[in-house]
Amino acid sequence: ATEFGITEALKALGIEEINNGTSTGADWFSNGEIIESYSPVDGQLIGKVKATTREDYEKVITTASAGFKEWRTMPAPQRGEIVRKFNDELRRLKEPLGKLVSYEMGKSYQEGLGEVQEMIDICDFAVGLSRQLHGLTMHSERPGHRMYEQYHPLGVVGIISAFNFPVAVWSWNTALAWVCGDACVWKGSEKTPLTAVACQNIAARVFEENNVPAGISCLITGDYTVGEFMTKDERVPLISATGSTRMGKIVAKEVAGRLGKTLLELGGNNAIIVTPDANIKNTVIGAVFGAVGTCGQRCTSTRRLIVHEDVYDKVKTAMVDAYKQLRIGNPLDQNNHVGPLIDKDAVKNYQQALEKVVAEGGNILVEGGVLEGEGYESGCYVKPAIAEAKNEFEIVQHETFAPVLYLLKYSGSVENAIEVQNGVRQGLSSAIMTNNLREAELFLSTQGSDCGIANVNIGTSGAEIGGAFGGEKETGGGRESGSDAWKVYMRRQTNTINYTTELPLAQGIKFDL
Ligand code: NAD
Repeated sequence: ATEFGITEALKALGIEEINNGTSTGADWFSNGEIIESYSPVDGQLIGKVKATTREDYEKVITTASAGFKEWRTMPAPQRGEIVRKFNDELRRLKEPLGKLVSYEMGKSYQEGLGEVQEMIDICDFAVGLSRQLHGLTMHSERPGHRMYEQYHPLGVVGIISAFNFPVAVWSWNTALAWVCGDACVWKGSEKTPLTAVACQNIAARVFEENNVPAGISCLITGDYTVGEFMTKDERVPLISATGSTRMGKIVAKEVAGRLGKTLLELGGNNAIIVTPDANIKNTVIGAVFGAVGTCGQRCTSTRRLIVHEDVYDKVKTAMVDAYKQLRIGNPLDQNNHVGPLIDKDAVKNYQQALEKVVAEGGNILVEGGVLEGEGYESGCYVKPAIAEAKNEFEIVQHETFAPVLYLLKYSGSVENAIEVQNGVRQGLSSAIMTNNLREAELFLSTQGSDCGIANVNIGTSGAEIGGAFGGEKETGGGRESGSDAWKVYMRRQTNTINYTTELPLAQGIKFDL
């Protein structure tokens, strides 16, 4: 860790040995039990964070609710200016924050920097958006009347996020919600509490310097029980939750029970279809990065490769060869391709998936296994594996959050491959590799991919902030980030104004007094 400048990074980000919120001046009051954060990179203790108690939570939500009342009156472009200043700090602290993301979560340093770049990009987007929170005008059926719709801030937005994108998902939500005029309360993953503290420190400092009311950026820390404070709380009109489908089903039910709104970003089971005239070199690059990048822990990671029988052997050989070249090790060392899994539970899930695929009749093409010895002391480093399998296998139907890729064969037309691709419960990301226009267009048509993301000649993994991000079916149906995703953070109001001296009723109804 010392070798890679972690100590300096922690210092630059204001991370202390024990982080309890009150000492940082941030809008974060945590006095509960201690959460220890260990790095999956080397197994070392990075720091400790105090969890949010019920009492702390009450203070947070009261501060956020009061802050919202002031924040909503500030013109949106001025709120955008605050986000721009926050973004200046992100640019300044990109390297230390990227490093901490890499060290606490285990993704490569390049990916850690990439994640912070995503934060920067969404803030840029939000600044522009702050002048474009457009409504519509429409023609009234009544003479002398004007009708229009407008968007107002919603209130306190609760954000629950997963370990694998410990900082970007927060910013996808907050950057938009802030310019929309909302206050945000964030519960990050209990597996990555220090990156959350680092982000909160940055926001709190910028907000304080710019006289933003207290409570516009709040952090609460802890496990699902702390998340439940928000999901059960009527003072939080919107819960944006990113994580497993299991979590999403619980959160959706809880929030729906009080008729609150949810934005759900849940698990994926993403596939690439490889057609007979696909560019094999590009397919291999896209598939390998998709399957092993972030050690298979992206919601958009490639889990299934659906290959036409005519090119099956060629693709199989090329994939096996490519896997031989993978270097597994410390993600802060830029020579390595694959870092560790998040923790030992994730390692267990990975091992179980490999056992299951064999038990169901699968054929292991590239052996997995847990790495031991020098450099692998954390016990979280595993070998990316490939198994030949069938789509109907129980294990293939599940999202295994690890670098296990299933190779599936199809024959006949591309419709058959699309059926396999759609034949899972999740619907996040999908891709087709083809130079055949008819196949590409069919894949994107109403009869094509049923996912929220459908790509041609690029893989499933990753996305640009300009588009709406999210998926269908058990992925939850929510959309974040670009396009018109901002609308979920606002409430819509339809207004009718009568500028005559009469009071005509709609639908020609007469009501003479
Ligand atoms: P997880 O579901 O275990 O936890 C996610 C978050 O939910 C954590 O902060 C956790 O404390 C909280 N949580 C869990 N149960 C809760 C409850 N009952 N009430 C309130 N909060 C609760 O997920 P994880 O292991 O951190 O992340 C991996 C999963 O996230 C994968 O399934 C992955 O596909 C998914 N993911 C999806 C997207 C997307 O945009 N679709 C992005 C990133 C990750």
